[in-house]
Amino acid sequence: MTSSNEPSATTASNVSRGTGFRTAAQIAEQDTRDYDNSTPLARAAEHVVMARQGALGRQQPARPDHTRVMVVANQKGGVGKTTSTVNLAAAMAQLGQRVLVIDLDPQGNASTALNIDHHRGVPSTYDLLVDGAALADITTPCPELPNLVVCPATIDLAGAEIELVSVVARENRLHKAIQAHPLVGDSTIGEERFDYVFIDCPPSLGLLTLNALVAGAEMMIPIQAEYYALEGLGQLLETVAMVKAHLNPRLDVTTILITMYDARTRLAAGVAEEVREHFGSTVLKTMVPRSVRVSEAPSYGQTVMTYDPGSPGALSYLEAAREIAVKGAPTA
Ligand code: ADP
Ligand code: MG
Repeated sequence: MTSSNEPSATTASNVSRGTGFRTAAQIAEQDTRDYDNSTPLARAAEHVVMARQGALGRQQPARPDHTRVMVVANQKGGVGKTTSTVNLAAAMAQLGQRVLVIDLDPQGNASTALNIDHHRGVPSTYDLLVDGAALADITTPCPELPNLVVCPATIDLAGAEIELVSVVARENRLHKAIQAHPLVGDSTIGEERFDYVFIDCPPSLGLLTLNALVAGAEMMIPIQAEYYALEGLGQLLETVAMVKAHLNPRLDVTTILITMYDARTRLAAGVAEEVREHFGSTVLKTMVPRSVRVSEAPSYGQTVMTYDPGSPGALSYLEAAREIAVKGAPTA
């Protein structure tokens, strides 16, 4: 039985024709300049082989000249924050970038997807924020991906929101912890330096998300290509403006990623178009298709990038990561 969730190549290109959007199928079709294989299947197969051999890193985009801290936030739940965080982080790692993922959601979904132990008592983001532990003492390497380390979240973090209220400079704790890490900074640090720090936020605009917004210079908003997608965005952008004005002038919404795009529905195309009208070039050209492979990967303690590297979901996250790397950090 074929999965009804995977858009066919024909449908995908019909829907997006002339709109400037790229679907996973089109991504698979493109780049024939760089690859001998020109069909989507061959391209996907090549990605599988390259991912297995670690050869993707050899076509790596340039490393940024300083560590880029990207906050993945949207107070709405289920829009693809965690999925995008772990898969973009994994894709960056496959592209030879050195990556740190900070799980800032008490649910610990990013930790699960990256196969990192996060039962109660494991050193975690909680210790970082509440006890002032050093980030370097908390991170663990991701078993599946050599260039990726993770700061896990345990359920203890649920209490941090309240415990932090009485703490001095409570919205600054994560920023301080990240900047104090010896591998965060510019190119003078050397080979081992982190190129990207991705922070996976909880679905709320409380103190945890606030800490992330103060810590990062770049914010990425995943938007699910569904009705109501834009609802709540106003409030989110107001929060960003408030943080920028009072707490972190470096903060910018640099990236919007359309997720769970179903190329068979006119609704998804309509929502995507509306998002692009609002946000212009901030929106990545690549959209992540709705795909069962993406959603089942975490149950195997994997990202889709290793679970099924040739799937449309993996190819689009890889392409989205390339877009982010090529676009570069905003100039200060
Ligand atoms: P958030 O972190 O914003 O709450 P998640 O990343 O956990 O959202 O995604 C919500 C649900 O949607 C999860 O069950 C996830 O597996 C599923 N999901 C996310 N992206 C996709 C996708 N591209 N295709 C199919 N399912 C997806
Ligand atoms: Mg999440």
